[in-house]
Amino acid sequence: MCDQCLITKEMIIDNLQKNYFVNYYQPIVNVKENIINGVEVLLRLKNPLLDNVCPECFIACAENENVINDLFFFSAEQAIKDISNNKSFNKLSINLSPKTLNVPNLYSWLKDKCNKYDIKKESVTLEITENVEYVETDISLENIENLRMLGFGLSIDDFGTGYSSYSRLKSMPFTELKIDKMFIKHIKTNNSDKKIIEHLVNLAQILGLQTVAEGIEDLETYHIIKNLGVNLCQGYFFHKPMAINDVLAL
Ligand code: C2E
Ligand code: MG
Ligand code: MG
Ligand code: MG
Repeated sequence: MCDQCLITKEMIIDNLQKNYFVNYYQPIVNVKENIINGVEVLLRLKNPLLDNVCPECFIACAENENVINDLFFFSAEQAIKDISNNKSFNKLSINLSPKTLNVPNLYSWLKDKCNKYDIKKESVTLEITENVEYVETDISLENIENLRMLGFGLSIDDFGTGYSSYSRLKSMPFTELKIDKMFIKHIKTNNSDKKIIEHLVNLAQILGLQTVAEGIEDLETYHIIKNLGVNLCQGYFFHKPMAINDVLAL
């Protein structure tokens, strides 16, 4: 995060109303078959007067100021709608703040949107991003249980950073473990990063989770990750996050 963005809650609401928030999509590649398996939705603020505001800053502000749910509902519905135009994607990953897990009936909202746009619930994975601490409540437990029962995937994003920890792995029925780019970045030269990833892949296999590595920027890194047995990869080496028309043209 940077201290130059200076974004406020009022600016977020205003930009949302004026349609300046846009979904970008980053392809996720299946390592074994070497094909694009799906996409992760990443929000962008496309206001020419605010083009320096980075996602990490507006997401952090939205979380702190309790407008993250507004961004979620906008972005998730748009993503489900966009993806319904390309049935060859069998995975849509949506970032979900722990705060949004405490929205009553989140699961039925998501179910309704999948039905409305004719998208399989099994193809939607919710990436729980723990930049803020998750507070377990009856509502969040009900959401998690129902989301899994309906077939939605649950991913533990940026595992090993922030609040994304072993205790969370224990308490939620995850289907996927996502390895943060900080463990990938120096893998060519840092043997302990390599060991950590080896360990994470092992752990995921034991727990029956699929693994995704983010932040793959070059071929050598990709080869190392592939040989360590990671299932899915994402990064600038393959594709940067892009507008929907660009991703549909791939
Ligand atoms: P994340 O979910 O871990 O997303 C991956 C971040 O890594 C994205 O940054 C992506 O653009 C970036 N990335 C992908 N490939 C590479 C690469 O090869 N190299 C490098 N250096 N970076 C790469 P982005 O889009 O800036 O998003 C940052 C974080 O903001 C996300 O991290 C996620 O936690 C959060 N975020 C973004 N959009 C949303 C959203 O709609 N809702 C929520 N709750 N969080 C969001
Ligand atoms: Mg993510
Ligand atoms: Mg991530
Ligand atoms: Mg990350």
